[in-house]
Amino acid sequence: DAVEISLKDIDQLARTSFPLCMRHMLEKLRENHHLKHGGRMQFGLFLKGAGLKLEDALAFWRAEFSQKVGSERFDKEYAYSIRHNYGKEGKRTDYTPYSCQKIISATPGVGDHHGCPYRHFGEENLRAALNKMGVSGHPLEEIMDKVKNRHYQLACTLTFEAAHGVSCDTGINHPNQYFSESQNMLK
Ligand code: SF4
Repeated sequence: DAVEISLKDIDQLARTSFPLCMRHMLEKLRENHHLKHGGRMQFGLFLKGAGLKLEDALAFWRAEFSQKVGSERFDKEYAYSIRHNYGKEGKRTDYTPYSCQKIISATPGVGDHHGCPYRHFGEENLRAALNKMGVSGHPLEEIMDKVKNRHYQLACTLTFEAAHGVSCDTGINHPNQYFSESQNMLK
């Protein structure tokens, strides 16, 4: 669809409408001014799917990475892969954002921040991250119960419901679906 998001709204949108996996990567990117390849792919394609245009995407990543590696190195080593994700380089494939299933089956290593927090965080970190989203008490315990039973997408669906105060009958199966359902509700 033709929905567009702009650079200046990303942090606000993350607070209201990003699923936990994407909130986490934005936080780490802001903190470290860097994300490894797996994170750049997962988060970059999500932002593209959410409606971030190529020029804004380049400005977004450059603003962070240049603080770490300098803008010259950013332009030389990283800008290409962002344009690539938008189908502007290489085979010019227009890459689609990853589904939950793909994200859940990722195998993030040390220093990686991609993947699905319900699947890849330890219990303590997950509880803390959910608390930060304003989820606590009975809903939190229900979510942790789903996680124990390896129902990660159900855990994410329950988080959506707790964070938005509504039921989500379709269930979450894609981070961009989480985002657009949240945005539709807030309209
Ligand atoms: Fe992200 Fe999907 Fe995991 Fe939710 S279930 S945190 S949207 S990968």
